[in-house]
Amino acid sequence: LFIAFEGGEGAGKTTQSRLLAIWLRDHGFDVVTTREPGATKVGMRLRAILLDRETTALSYRAESLLYAADRAQHVDAVVRPALDRGAVVITDRYVDSNLAYQGYGRELPVAEIDEVNMWATAGLRPDLTVLLDVPPSLGLNRFASPADRIESEPAEFHDRVRRGFRALAEAEPHRYLVLDASQDQAVITRHIQDRVQRILPD
Ligand code: C5P
Ligand code: MG
Repeated sequence: LFIAFEGGEGAGKTTQSRLLAIWLRDHGFDVVTTREPGATKVGMRLRAILLDRETTALSYRAESLLYAADRAQHVDAVVRPALDRGAVVITDRYVDSNLAYQGYGRELPVAEIDEVNMWATAGLRPDLTVLLDVPPSLGLNRFASPADRIESEPAEFHDRVRRGFRALAEAEPHRYLVLDASQDQAVITRHIQDRVQRILPD
């Protein structure tokens, strides 16, 4: 079982993916929590290039390919092996982040990024994608630390990203759980558990 958490900055993806992992482990499942970019050694180096504010003039296509390269490594080294041994894999960001940030945010062709990702992941798609939807103004305010290269993009960029995530979810409603991430954290957690319960193997 492969579950992805998606959403903009400060939506609570990390918190909710951790809570879901704890709940699943309590129910006896072998769970692997992971994230993008940067879950592997080479991925950490890609993450540094991608998010360092000293990275300047990185072309949008190059940026998009580096995210896809990180994902290819992540799938081959972490996600597939875990799924193959029967674990539940929960990832904080996956292909949809690439589509939303570089497709909608950078305004590169979404269908082409999707094709690149199909190849990068050898077609691996999540069984469920939880979209934590939050207005960028609220999400970006949840940070104490200085913004990374992407977080520093203007508000219009983050608005396009949010619209992108919502459009992706609307196009494939059966694969998504869309939740208002400004709600109470415990309410969000319960909605996620209810949905995951329905797709758990016995
Ligand atoms: O850890 P976090 O998810 O915040 O870091 C990933 C960062 O990379 C985010 O700031 C997000 O804006 C950015 N990102 C991106 N394109 C992707 C995936 C992530 O710009 N495809
Ligand atoms: Mg971030």
